[in-house]
Amino acid sequence: MQFRTVPKNGDKLSVLGFGCMRLPLNGQYVDEERAINQIRYAIDNGVNYVDTAPPYHGGNSEKVLGKALLDDYRKRVKIATKLTPFMLNKAEDMDKMLNTSLQKLQTDHIDYYLLHGLEKESWNKLQGFGALKFLEKAKEEGKIVNTGFSFHGSPETFKTIVDAYNWTMCQIQYNFLDEKTQAGTEGLKYAASKNLAVMVMEPLRGGALAGKIPKEVKQLYDDSKTQRSAAEWGLRWVWNHPEATVVLSGMNEEKQVAENIKTAETAFPSAMKSDELATIKKVAESYKRLMKVQCTGCEYCMPCPSGVNIPRNFSAYNDYCMFGDEQHSRAMYGMMLMGGLTGKRADASLCKACKKCMERCPQHIAIPECLKSVSKDLGGAKTEAILTMMKSGSSQKTDKTTSGN
Ligand code: SF4
Ligand code: SF4
Repeated sequence: MQFRTVPKNGDKLSVLGFGCMRLPLNGQYVDEERAINQIRYAIDNGVNYVDTAPPYHGGNSEKVLGKALLDDYRKRVKIATKLTPFMLNKAEDMDKMLNTSLQKLQTDHIDYYLLHGLEKESWNKLQGFGALKFLEKAKEEGKIVNTGFSFHGSPETFKTIVDAYNWTMCQIQYNFLDEKTQAGTEGLKYAASKNLAVMVMEPLRGGALAGKIPKEVKQLYDDSKTQRSAAEWGLRWVWNHPEATVVLSGMNEEKQVAENIKTAETAFPSAMKSDELATIKKVAESYKRLMKVQCTGCEYCMPCPSGVNIPRNFSAYNDYCMFGDEQHSRAMYGMMLMGGLTGKRADASLCKACKKCMERCPQHIAIPECLKSVSKDLGGAKTEAILTMMKSGSSQKTDKTTSGN
């Protein structure tokens, strides 16, 4: 494992951090046993920074992490968790949220406490609640050690927030598709110039830059002199920036955890060669051409009062646009039309354009408009036909099972 130093406090943090926003699931719930084993495996292999937040997994991420850190694992890591503006109604709620985090995480202090997902409005809201004074008081009481903020707003707001307080760190979304969005490369360099540690979230855009790769992207990787997985390309690109302190990966497969740890062992800054950087540049251009909705699957927009599963609809749509796998994308959309995931319909056509979700989307996606396109392109007769096939397939399966009994 490689380590990088936090300028303001000298902490030596592992370049790979464990992000607990996408823990393994069993049905709709966190698969605790697997999650705990994965977190502990990562710690046993050098990871010493773990990141969570009150809303992740409906409040269960902090709980599961707290359990994973029992048996002396707590001493081996720095914990980061957050103060989440959209869950606060009044100033007093800040104290409650911090105390609940301490309780769920089964610890008496948070090492890195972040104001969560800031952009202009949430920053103004927290300032109105006196959040900076609250942070000072929490530090004096020993409940938190270092302060920071995570960010999803504009480059201008980013600089304003960096300059507003003596932060130890910040957390930004950064990957080869987001050099010019949100804080971007400019923000990364600005924060580093002010001696802030920079934790990077979404290094693989919620997994979209790894896993199933569009044909033309695969061709670009195949044509490169250096052969590595898409995940490794994406992570190495972020680590190539000396200003990035920790890269948070939301891992949920044992294989992924092991692969990322292995990659992190040689995650040196400024190590990528010019031909490797040229490959990434072409890959980024290719993705930008193919990806229709820049959704990271963070689920901040959920729940939708009309029942739309917003990220799943966008995932099906991006798959459709990026991979050309029409049958699979229509089947995914069909499942939402049938209510096959939760027993209730969750497809894009349910959207009433109330725009409530848009206030929460860190990617500033015009959600109702995009959902209209999803419904137009993935709904209709072709999907109905696939649904009929799926239904008859499942009844055949039932018949076979019954006759077998
Ligand atoms: S705009 Fe549509 S998707 Fe968003 S919350 Fe309203 S109904 Fe749901
Ligand atoms: S639409 Fe926005 S808030 Fe919702 S999952 Fe996608 S990126 Fe996150």
